[in-house]
Amino acid sequence: MGPLHLHERSYPKGLVEVADGCFAYLQPDGGWCLSNAGLLRGRGASLLVDTLTDLPSTATMLEAMRPLTDTAPIRTLAITHGNLDHYFGNQLVEGAEIVASSGTAHEMATGPTPQTMLDLLAVPDPVLGGYVRHAFGRFDWSGIDVTLPTRTFEDRLTVDAGGRRAELIMVGPAHTAGDTICHLPDERVAYTGDLLFIFGTPIVWAGPFAGWIDACDRLLALDCDVYVPGHGPLTDRRGVEGIKAYLQFVYREARARFDAGLSARDAVFDIDLGDYAGWGDHERLAINVTSAYREFDPSQPESGFVELFGLMAELAARTGN
Ligand SMILES: [Zn+2]
Repeated sequence: MGPLHLHERSYPKGLVEVADGCFAYLQPDGGWCLSNAGLLRGRGASLLVDTLTDLPSTATMLEAMRPLTDTAPIRTLAITHGNLDHYFGNQLVEGAEIVASSGTAHEMATGPTPQTMLDLLAVPDPVLGGYVRHAFGRFDWSGIDVTLPTRTFEDRLTVDAGGRRAELIMVGPAHTAGDTICHLPDERVAYTGDLLFIFGTPIVWAGPFAGWIDACDRLLALDCDVYVPGHGPLTDRRGVEGIKAYLQFVYREARARFDAGLSARDAVFDIDLGDYAGWGDHERLAINVTSAYREFDPSQPESGFVELFGLMAELAARTGN
């Protein structure tokens, strides 16, 4: 096994062994729906952590894993959270038990369908339409039969993968309602799902911010050598600390503007991201500020998908992303 390149902005696509018999499947550059997955290979059985956004990309990944899974088939598929780029490929993993937290299972059952994505891609508005086609237009939304968990848990579940142990730890709500860390204590590795975006901007869909910040502390307390993020390159503690600092920054900046009487919309355009402007998809700030405002004032109406993407599209257009 060669040296692992941790926390480097440029990284290769595909399967990488992060510890003995423990792998990550990475999709640069980690932008919209370019998610990562994981594989733990035991004796005669493997655990897969997440599938990808569409059937072609998931098939390519499973093919790359074939030399490993031929003699140790995937018996368990663990889903880190209920965003489609982590489970729309589930139907291609045959004969596996699909495990998720109950919060994640609920979001999978009630979340966007492939048709939702096709409808979104067809919106005529040039700014919004241009943005969603940039984000989602490269994927193949056909043939997807959303395949739900067959087993759920509340807080914690130990999974055996051919004699190797994985701990599924529910830490949501944070990024989503049911965010789950897949921790391999013996290998000192954690698959974090979208609790970590590395060199990309995290999205606070659910919140509260404090919940996600606590989740970062729980990741740090696991004291792993390698953290496999939901998007972006492999990382170590630096990646966790970076996300925690970003969340604290956005929360503080949004709070100051809320207290000064600015609307969420005005706050979005007023915040200077500084170095965070160099992270991918920095316009996700629009979602994050909207989520923070709803924490400050729960009577604020919940924004819909189209409204949030419209605001992001505007911010991206204005900042030349
Ligand atoms: Zn994701």
